[in-house]
Amino acid sequence: MRFFDLHTDTASVIYDEKKSLLQNDLHVDLTRAGKHFEYTAFLTLFSDSRYTDMTGRYDALMENLLGECKGRVAFVKNAAEYADAKDKGLMPMCLAVEGAEMLGCDPEKLLYAVREHNLIMSGITWNNPNPLYDENGLTPKGFEYVRICMEHDIAVDVSHLHDKGTWDVLGTGAKTVASHSNARSLCPVGRNLPDELIVGIGKRGGLIGLNFYKAFLNPDLSAASIDDVVAHAKHIAGLAGVETLAIGSDFDGAGMPHGITGVESLPALREALINGGFTPAETEQICYENAFRFFLEGKKG
Ligand SMILES: [Zn+2]
Repeated sequence: MRFFDLHTDTASVIYDEKKSLLQNDLHVDLTRAGKHFEYTAFLTLFSDSRYTDMTGRYDALMENLLGECKGRVAFVKNAAEYADAKDKGLMPMCLAVEGAEMLGCDPEKLLYAVREHNLIMSGITWNNPNPLYDENGLTPKGFEYVRICMEHDIAVDVSHLHDKGTWDVLGTGAKTVASHSNARSLCPVGRNLPDELIVGIGKRGGLIGLNFYKAFLNPDLSAASIDDVVAHAKHIAGLAGVETLAIGSDFDGAGMPHGITGVESLPALREALINGGFTPAETEQICYENAFRFFLEGKKG
């Protein structure tokens, strides 16, 4: 059994709370993740307006993360590196930043992260306006940042953009991912995608990661459950095709719904998807194959 998760905040939480990646009381640790199934996840570096020195935070998070991963995890950018990591007994994981603020909104620092750390996905912002993005969408600098992402085969994460910004990114033809967003028509919050954008992302071959955050699953927070994840999956698959779907757990960044406690619950989600009407082959696509194909297969470099 294999899972490929487009979004976790574990890398930032272990640093902030001084915890171990190998074993902890958070949603994800390598001991649980490696136990009964294979788990490849984006370990996403997170920052928000609490931090004034964003690029300093990137460096500090990265140094901590590399120490925690040494001898256990390899950050991979394509299928060959993925296979190589497994041959060496390492868990293949992927690296992303949640907002470009962490890279100073600077294409040079982005390319440094790509070169030195195998970063393969970048958000544009974490919710707030920055030099790349404002209330009208991408700024000229933002379009230039996305162009550089395209040139270097870096996926652009639109999960934290407003609708106009997401359309801007889609219009460029960049590899577009909503790494942790659900359907707004089932749960009306701005972080979820309206039906037209779900269709738009699907048409352009993008990917949408199902977010387990209870507030994005069900307007009635206390009722949110694993079955709501399945409901969002069915809605998105109905609009954009099952090939557009993946998992984007938001582990260690969000409160989980009934039926999900952390990475150990992924087999239960697989079962819930099958019980909800997805075939085993479609479930495999959602849990693993779509993300593997999108991020690692046929990738340059
Ligand atoms: Zn987020």
